[in-house]
Amino acid sequence: MKNDLRRTEPIIEPWSFGGKNGECIDIGTHRVHSTLRDPVIRERMQIFLPTALDHYRSALVPLPAPDEPIEVFLFGSRTEWLGYTRERLPQEAAMYEKIGRGGYTVEGDAVLYDIGRWDTFTIASHEGWHAYTQRVFRHSLPVWLEEGIACYMEGVRGGVDGAPPTFIPWRNFERFGELRDVVARNRLIPLEELVQGTPQDALANGRTTLLGYYAQVWALVHFLNEGEGGRYRRGLERLLSDAVEGRIAGTLWESSRAGTRNERRMAIGRQVGPAVLREYFAEDLPRISAEYDAFVRAIVARGNGEKIWRGESPLKAISAATPVTPGTANATPASSTPATAAPANSLAPAASSAATPNAPR
Ligand SMILES: [Zn+2]
Repeated sequence: MKNDLRRTEPIIEPWSFGGKNGECIDIGTHRVHSTLRDPVIRERMQIFLPTALDHYRSALVPLPAPDEPIEVFLFGSRTEWLGYTRERLPQEAAMYEKIGRGGYTVEGDAVLYDIGRWDTFTIASHEGWHAYTQRVFRHSLPVWLEEGIACYMEGVRGGVDGAPPTFIPWRNFERFGELRDVVARNRLIPLEELVQGTPQDALANGRTTLLGYYAQVWALVHFLNEGEGGRYRRGLERLLSDAVEGRIAGTLWESSRAGTRNERRMAIGRQVGPAVLREYFAEDLPRISAEYDAFVRAIVARGNGEKIWRGESPLKAISAATPVTPGTANATPASSTPATAAPANSLAPAASSAATPNAPR
């Protein structure tokens, strides 16, 4: 799926902020306001962002293109990013400052800075999803799903020699590694509880809890997409199209299965609670909660790190016809382990997401 707005050649104009000279790179689908100093990030971002947008619009269900370019602010340093944030969001700036490395999305604009050649792209795909939905969806998704899909959109394999990246939702070492950790520490949050919370609540309980929250909502999207033989996929499609068309509130309000008046009110006003889960997926919450729990435990079973590295569903049955070449089998664990364990990688996207205001527009 191509974006209608895409250009073959970018239009580059001077742009400055706080005395720093930068540029605005208009690639049609996005306008990147940049004070980047790394020429590699600058170049690759021009291919990465439109490719990510194609992926948002096709990965789960066909979704419409934005009417206008998405504005991205991409600073070369944290100091510049903080300076911009203090000016744009004076009330929230102190909170963002505390969160550490990351980025956020506000009013459909993604505000990021250079946190390295891998993490900057990961965060750009995560915040890019929030920027997209804030511009295109008439109703907000529930917080757990909005964040879960943002994490789902992070999985990627970089393009070589200027080729576009390939987005592969299962190929997400940070979320997978964290999920494994959550299960190993016996800190898995039951689904009924998971849908009550927000990243901000999770952050209040510390960084580990926050990373665990993201890992679990990442797994939840995979569960809804392919778990239980695909039973929940239709509900996911209906929910996404209701978000685009602005039908979620009305659907919940008139629903006889979404729950109490207060639960429906919380789902509509604050995008939390079990009402969306009941209306779109399953009235029997203990059952779906148990299914989700089993799905998560199956994902993190021993040996699945290799499948994540290859971008395959850990639950896909291994085909007898697929030959395993010794070269592949040897190379995979060696490369995947450091990537999964790298602390820089695990921190960046999560920090961003906590800062993402997902308030209804
Ligand atoms: Zn987020």
